[in-house]
Amino acid sequence: MKDQGFEAIWPPGRATGGERACVRGVEGKILVSNLRNIYESGQFALSVEIFPPKTEAGDADLAKTLRSLGVYQPAFVSCTYGAGGSTQGRTLHWCRMIQEELGLTATAHFTCVGASQSGLRDWLDKAWESGVRNIMALRGDPPKGETAFVPAEDGLRYANELVALIRSHRPEMGIGVAGYPEKHVEATCPDLDLANLVRKVQAGADAVFTQMFFDNEHFFRFREKAVKAGIKAPIVPGVMPITSFERIKRISEMCGTEFPADLSLRLEAAKDNPEDEFEIGIAHAIEQCRELLESGVPGMHFYVLNRAQACQRIFDALGLGSAVAGPA
Ligand SMILES: Cc1cc2nc3c(=O)[nH]c(=O)nc-3n(C[C@H](O)[C@H](O)[C@H](O)COP(=O)(O)OP(=O)(O)OC[C@H]3O[C@@H](n4cnc5c(N)ncnc54)[C@H](O)[C@@H]3O)c2cc1C
Repeated sequence: MKDQGFEAIWPPGRATGGERACVRGVEGKILVSNLRNIYESGQFALSVEIFPPKTEAGDADLAKTLRSLGVYQPAFVSCTYGAGGSTQGRTLHWCRMIQEELGLTATAHFTCVGASQSGLRDWLDKAWESGVRNIMALRGDPPKGETAFVPAEDGLRYANELVALIRSHRPEMGIGVAGYPEKHVEATCPDLDLANLVRKVQAGADAVFTQMFFDNEHFFRFREKAVKAGIKAPIVPGVMPITSFERIKRISEMCGTEFPADLSLRLEAAKDNPEDEFEIGIAHAIEQCRELLESGVPGMHFYVLNRAQACQRIFDALGLGSAVAGPA
């Protein structure tokens, strides 16, 4: 994915040689690509999503994970924006690390939570100055214990408004938005949720990244309806490999994601044996991804949960990414 639509940026901070060869153009400038160009080429685009850890040990583990997955040369690595505020400042830190030390394109997640419109613009300026050229534009979730999202004073209510703000303030940014094959938990019906997705794309989103799902039928139905509704932006499935049933069950309940009954039964039966559980999860993800690839998806976005092993197994099994020799 390294040959299309690059922009050369000066690393705003330290420009190290990195752990591996960084992608650098003339005069050592770092080359980053824009979401808009990544999918335009028609080449399959692998992407991975990480979150900023809360501890130093977590930071060290994540740096290792990124080096392991960087070997597959994902089209971009995205970093989430902390819901509770505790790790928000870390998103840009990790985006810089991804671009300056690994030579990969970063996408910074960004939400409307707790910020006025001028605060949102200030953060976008900071992201731009840090070399970030892609934003995953989200509304964000209500704070823990609350069920309804309340916008900040002079803030925004919905992600489509954030997309519009980014388009007017930093028109050059690539913008991704969230899509929900099983509808967003707060939406009263799938059609209204889809109408809201159309609004986000009309506001200027370049690509849609879906919430995880474990039954591809949900994705196929959603994609068909989205295309019928006029969405031309690439729709990229989000894949979360199951490595711990308990953990994924918790996340799925929060997101309203269904588990196929037979997968549930197999995972339940293996619950006292973490290795079996892991193998069942990997086998399911490989099958799921194989079917998605056959259906012609423009890319796949992996929720890595900051661990490399499951994704490495899946990428190797399917020959995903352009695996190049990594660090010893
Ligand atoms: C790929 C991906 C990445 C994510 N990354 C993060 C992250 O980094 N940090 C984080 O905190 N959360 C993240 N989330 C979670 C996300 O913030 C939540 O799912 C949140 O509840 C909704 O965000 P949204 O951008 O989809 O909101 P919206 O698109 O604004 O939708 C929210 C709800 O409002 C409805 N709605 C939207 N627009 C309108 C309108 N104009 N009128 C009436 N109803 C409307 C929708 O149907 C939906 O029910 C991510 C989700 C995905 C799928």
